Amino acid sequence: MQTLTDWLSSIPGHPLPQLRAADQRWKAWRSQSLPSPNPVVTTSLESLGTPDWDVVICGGTLGILLGAALAKQGWRVALLERGELRGRQQEWNTSRHELQVLVELDLLTPDQLETAIASEFNPNRIAFAGGAEFWVKDVLNVGVSPVYLLDCLKQRFLALGGQLLEHHPFERVVIHPDGACLWTGQQQPALTTRLMIDAMGHGSPLVAQARSGQQPEAVCLVVGTCAQGIPAGTTGDLMVSLSPIEQVAHGSGHGSSHEQRNQCFWEAFPAKDGRTTYLFTYADLSPAQPSLEDLFEQYRQQLPAYQGVDFSAIQAQRAMFGLFPSYRHSPLVLPWARTLAVGDSSGSQSPLSFGGFGAMLRHLHRLQVGVQDALKADSLSQADLALLQPYQPNLSVTWLFQRAMSVRAHQSLDPNQINLLLSTVFGAMQDLGDPVLRPFLQDVVQFSPLYQTLLQVSLRSPGLIPKILQQVGPLALLDWMGHFAALGAYSALSQTQPILQVWSDRLPQTQRDRWRRRMDAWTYGSGADFSTAWSGKALDRP
Ligand SMILES: Cc1cc2nc3c(=O)[nH]c(=O)nc-3n(C[C@H](O)[C@H](O)[C@H](O)COP(=O)(O)OP(=O)(O)OC[C@H]3O[C@@H](n4cnc5c(N)ncnc54)[C@H](O)[C@@H]3O)c2cc1C
Repeated sequence: MQTLTDWLSSIPGHPLPQLRAADQRWKAWRSQSLPSPNPVVTTSLESLGTPDWDVVICGGTLGILLGAALAKQGWRVALLERGELRGRQQEWNTSRHELQVLVELDLLTPDQLETAIASEFNPNRIAFAGGAEFWVKDVLNVGVSPVYLLDCLKQRFLALGGQLLEHHPFERVVIHPDGACLWTGQQQPALTTRLMIDAMGHGSPLVAQARSGQQPEAVCLVVGTCAQGIPAGTTGDLMVSLSPIEQVAHGSGHGSSHEQRNQCFWEAFPAKDGRTTYLFTYADLSPAQPSLEDLFEQYRQQLPAYQGVDFSAIQAQRAMFGLFPSYRHSPLVLPWARTLAVGDSSGSQSPLSFGGFGAMLRHLHRLQVGVQDALKADSLSQADLALLQPYQPNLSVTWLFQRAMSVRAHQSLDPNQINLLLSTVFGAMQDLGDPVLRPFLQDVVQFSPLYQTLLQVSLRSPGLIPKILQQVGPLALLDWMGHFAALGAYSALSQTQPILQVWSDRLPQTQRDRWRRRMDAWTYGSGADFSTAWSGKALDRP
């Protein structure tokens, strides 16, 4: 077998330099040697005068979704992209009904939506070594072509009067009392706007400044390929473990001898260019955690057995990898007026799936309405915009799940503990039925399903509970109980929405808008948007 370096070098796109750059970033996180962030946001008390734009969005990948949605409402929107605005080759997986929002907001035609769906497969499997298999239909079973989707949205944005500035990297912004002034690598003079939206992803310089260079609390490491030579099939794997907790192969060319045991999971599905397979693991920031290159070595060793093909038959068309940082304090509320983070920079995607595209689809209508209200009322203070990225207990409760699926450096767990836990949890959810299983698989955690699942798990496997408590630790558990209680409270409050909406509609605009944002927080923070999200009813307001 060729070396990992030779294999990676033979894959179109030559991913090795980017992989090693990502590993350098990962190493800096683990060794706490992150450079101090450059301040890119400053404030000034001077008046700016009338800004040229209502909204300037920095970062085009998910930024174009909100950009087109705001241009559709008639706002003057400019979008800055540091390179060319172009989607990646590899599909984004999501569920069909989640995509409907793009048609309902009149950003895509139904035909365009159909063309954007590059692959569709059914059913999807969930399985854990030594446990049962579960199969689900119509969940995360469509692959959307980011190249086509972003191209359509780009054309729609331009047709609606939006201005796209490609090859214009954001450099810095000064926040004035009446607007924000942005400098890019290219644009002279600076752009002036009422609101700046940060959609620059995990590496956003605004996020680095707002989080003061803080390390993430945990990371999900993902490696994989889209390859030919593996039968593409018609079914997918959402989450499959083939083995107990095991040591990830170390020392692929950089001679490290440390040890770290991880629970790894596989994901696989048919794609337009072959079959996509990913290997992923949740990790803390201990120096002993494997590098992405180490994980790729494990992926390469185990892929043939996983997919039942000889390694020599596999022709990788492209390699994919990612480091998804997660922070306990998410979504991120930026500490400045006139700025709002969306997409990965906001940390509003689940720390379990990191499906940032899916999360953006789910929140797109809420963000469109919220930004519209804020612009209309000129409610662009820090406190007003904080209401647009509110605390979501259903996001915060997933923290403990991530921790329960990872092995921290000093821990010595029963090698089957995580598989046993997941088998028991999914078995309970399947028995409780679709209303429990489906939202969870689509990153929507709700109070009653979660409560029922936990009850079932403790009845079925009482012996598991003390082990899990020991694994996650008392502080994490206490913290979680607070979020769980908040989830219950948000669920109850979301039921009051029909009455409160009638009452709040009679209030002066600023107060009414604040109540709308609170109601959104209860709805989305409790997962009450799930059943209605694709019909837009969750936000069906005048
Ligand atoms: C291997 C892998 C598989 C994935 N699969 C899925 C999936 O199946 N489903 C799903 O929902 N999600 C998936 N995701 C996650 C999804 O890709 C991200 O959530 C999504 O790309 C986030 O988009 P973003 O625009 O917020 O950030 P990014 O993707 O990081 O994009 C940031 C944008 O900002 C631009 N930018 C950066 N800096 C500047 C600057 N200074 N000035 C101007 N522009 C700038 C960049 O060029 C880029 O266009 C996957 C991710 C990976 C790595």
